[in-house]
Amino acid sequence: TNYSKEEILQKAKELELEFIHLQFTDIMGVMKNISITIEQLEKALDNEIMFDGSSIDGFVRIEESDMYLRPDLSTFVVFPWTNGSREARMICDVYRPDGTPFDGCPRNTLKRVLKEAEEMGYIMNVGPECEFFLFHTNERGEPTLDTHDNAGYFDLAPVDLGGDARKDMTITLKQMGFEIEASHHEVAQGQHEIDFLYADALATADNIMTFKMAVRIIAQRHGLHATFMPKPKFGINGSGMHINMSLATLDGKNAFYDESDPLKLSKAAYHYLGGIVKHAKAFAAVTNPTINSYKRLVPGYEAPVLIAWSSSNRSPLIRIPAKRGNSTRIELRNPDPSANPYLALAAVLKAGLDGIKNEIEPPAPVCSNVYHMSDEEMKEKGIEGLPTNLYEAIQELSKDEVLKEALGAHIFEKFSDAALLEWSEYSRYVSQWELDRYLRKF
Ligand code: ADP
Ligand code: MG
Ligand code: MG
Ligand code: MG
Ligand code: MG
Repeated sequence: TNYSKEEILQKAKELELEFIHLQFTDIMGVMKNISITIEQLEKALDNEIMFDGSSIDGFVRIEESDMYLRPDLSTFVVFPWTNGSREARMICDVYRPDGTPFDGCPRNTLKRVLKEAEEMGYIMNVGPECEFFLFHTNERGEPTLDTHDNAGYFDLAPVDLGGDARKDMTITLKQMGFEIEASHHEVAQGQHEIDFLYADALATADNIMTFKMAVRIIAQRHGLHATFMPKPKFGINGSGMHINMSLATLDGKNAFYDESDPLKLSKAAYHYLGGIVKHAKAFAAVTNPTINSYKRLVPGYEAPVLIAWSSSNRSPLIRIPAKRGNSTRIELRNPDPSANPYLALAAVLKAGLDGIKNEIEPPAPVCSNVYHMSDEEMKEKGIEGLPTNLYEAIQELSKDEVLKEALGAHIFEKFSDAALLEWSEYSRYVSQWELDRYLRKF
């Protein structure tokens, strides 16, 4: 809802709110929160709340640390889970003291790329499919890798703690204004998916952040730990966050639909697809930003490995779901829920827009299951693979000027520095796998 300042103040009074949480997201995709008492609300609505940006990961140097929060009034929502105290939140953009948007704020970054799309006559709509695991916690409240489904020999009663928690999550999300389309148990033990209705890209990125927060909180209430880590367990499916996306014209028509095409897809859809294929290697660093992300992107677990598209098959990177008309969309299957949703959508949109601008033709679709394609066949068809680890992905991103422009110099630098640091630590670590392999052998 597009509230005015007066309406928010009025609501706060009516609901007798005590605390307001001002939320924003750092470069790594972690939600940050500054809580103010209700007496400070008017000041917050006048964009006068300041914080020290130097204490936030990847934000700024000490000497330019003063940052201002500008709440987006349309994101005002009351928390349904507080026992007793009455609290609400607003999502904020980060601004410099001189009144310009701070380029280290991922939400500003997405807004900048969305503006570019708008200047080309398009609005981006996105529906994500967030998967996550629910694990038991131990006596000290720490997460384990035990799932509720294999709770053990003694649990004869049909208790599905996970199912109960998921129902509670759905109710909570509905109270927060989400329209839940589906909620189901996923393929792996202890794995779940809750789908909500698509919206414009900015609202969806906000929704993903809110979704993760709500899911974690409700899981905790049920004595469970919810994790959006992409591949918590070896040998079973990891968690993805498929991105279903379409462009609409400014008057709200689906710009990917064209009745006259054999596949009923428009020129814009094909070119967007061409851009996605062209930049896939580079945006992987953003849509799959952790070391662990690449342990999900392996053959055999429903996650994509090859850069190809299909109008039916679910194994390649991109699928065009069968629905047409207003539901005409492209499903991108590599993103995972460890991604910063603002940066992931900015990167993917930029790739698609580049395709439209430069009329990039996509390769021919693949029809067979690409997992079963031989190396020769792949070479012949010119099909390449996604990066196989974070280091490779960062190298690809560094080579891609279009995507660097999408992130902006500040975020690109902080983002790749952090990833390379992560990679160098990981590379030096001696794992159990190596001990098992080599300790006796050599
Ligand atoms: P799957 O068949 O891959 O499991 P789901 O039904 O779980 O797909 O999710 C589909 C998602 O696509 C939902 O979030 C839905 O709201 C979204 N969606 C539907 N139409 C559009 C559209 N035109 N543009 C973007 N997203 C859309
Ligand atoms: Mg789904
Ligand atoms: Mg599904
Ligand atoms: Mg799924
Ligand atoms: Mg899907």
